[in-house]
Amino acid sequence: TVKTRFAPSPTGFLHVGGARTALYSWLYAKHTGGEFVLRIEDTDLERSTQEAIDAIIEGMNWLGLNWDEGPYYQTKRFDRYNQLIDQMLEEDKAYKCYCPKELLDEIREEQMAAGVKPRYDANHPKVIAANAAATEETPFCIRFRNPKEGTVVFDDHIRGRIEISNTELDDLIIRRTDGSPTYNFCVVVDDWDMGITHIVRGEDHINNTPRQINIYKALGAPIPEFAHCAMILGDDGAKLSKRHGAVSVMQYRDDGYLPKALLNYLVRLGWSNGDQEIFSEEEMIQLFSLDAISKSASAFNTDKLLWLNNHYIKHSEPEYVAQYLQWHLDQKEIDITSGPAITDVIKLVGERCNTLIELAEQSRYFYQDFSEFEAGAAKKHLRPVAKDALELALAKVEALSEWTTENLHQVIQDTCSELDLGMGKVGMPLRVAVTGIGQSPSVDAVMCLVGKERVMARIQMALA
Ligand code: GLU
Repeated sequence: TVKTRFAPSPTGFLHVGGARTALYSWLYAKHTGGEFVLRIEDTDLERSTQEAIDAIIEGMNWLGLNWDEGPYYQTKRFDRYNQLIDQMLEEDKAYKCYCPKELLDEIREEQMAAGVKPRYDANHPKVIAANAAATEETPFCIRFRNPKEGTVVFDDHIRGRIEISNTELDDLIIRRTDGSPTYNFCVVVDDWDMGITHIVRGEDHINNTPRQINIYKALGAPIPEFAHCAMILGDDGAKLSKRHGAVSVMQYRDDGYLPKALLNYLVRLGWSNGDQEIFSEEEMIQLFSLDAISKSASAFNTDKLLWLNNHYIKHSEPEYVAQYLQWHLDQKEIDITSGPAITDVIKLVGERCNTLIELAEQSRYFYQDFSEFEAGAAKKHLRPVAKDALELALAKVEALSEWTTENLHQVIQDTCSELDLGMGKVGMPLRVAVTGIGQSPSVDAVMCLVGKERVMARIQMALA
């Protein structure tokens, strides 16, 4: 059965590129009825932080990318790596290298001066001499004995067949001088031990893959399948970075996006199914395939993300929207305990909003009283022009026995006909009076949700 994984290094937040890789791995596991593993690759002790681990997990949870196993931590598996390194030493599949860094740098410079691609050369006379001169005390690292002949071939699900001659690959360090195992070794051991069948990761790792395949072979481990995803670019064609605005998944939460919208956006960023744009989670899972992922880089398009976000605000269950809106209401200190059900407000206001920040802001007048009307709107629609209309409407509102949108609609119509005024001359003043601002959904529906007591108090305030 299929097993995929997401294996971030905890050196920063969960960014858009990582989230897309995680999504593709997750989708492939779900699509095949397989399992998805989260593994934290924290062997780089200097750059890994607990904060970054927490941020990655928070981002994965927010997106709803749940894992079946893990999180595993590489730092907890050092014994296993070392056990295998010792075994490889014994089998002569790895060896100790005593060359000091200075010597390696010197050789590299010679190679560059001679126009040769700089690489580690175990047969270089100076390397042989350094190893021969080593004593018990000389520090050493451990290198993998890469095959000298032949070619590494693999069929990448996205990039097709890839062939690299072993003469291109040098003897990789698998344990540093300080005793710590290196990424290329740990990743192979983990993917083997964890039974990973499909590796989906960024194209930036494609040069590591042939080296890793040689390590799988040396360990006698089955070689998984690979899918290397192309980069994500900003809208200016440069590699996506902080410069382009939000790159952290949690920043999208802060900016008012729904996780469903971001997931739908990410799945389309490099994968397609005809020209379909909207995918429910079930559809994504059902339709996803590694082979349909695009080879070319994809450009991030914020307008499209906004469009999707509006779609999901409009078409999701209001309870779902409410769950994510709450955080933004809290940010704005809007207390929804006294006032209409937030789900009713979402149904009424949601379609006008591209983000949850806008939605939270437009929910405000349903829950918070205000002491002033927006100046421009008030000047145009309230004073002194609308005195008669507001007074009559107030009397009719007060007399209403049943508080419904239809009845409020009737109140506005009757006020218009009795005073011989157009709809706008009654509706707009009421809107400004009741919401404090010049724009809102249909004013009868708004008044209905705001409630009789507040509506009357606000009209009175407008008349005062
Ligand atoms: N830890 C690596 C990274 O964050 C990913 C390794 C992999 O997916 O094989 O770039």
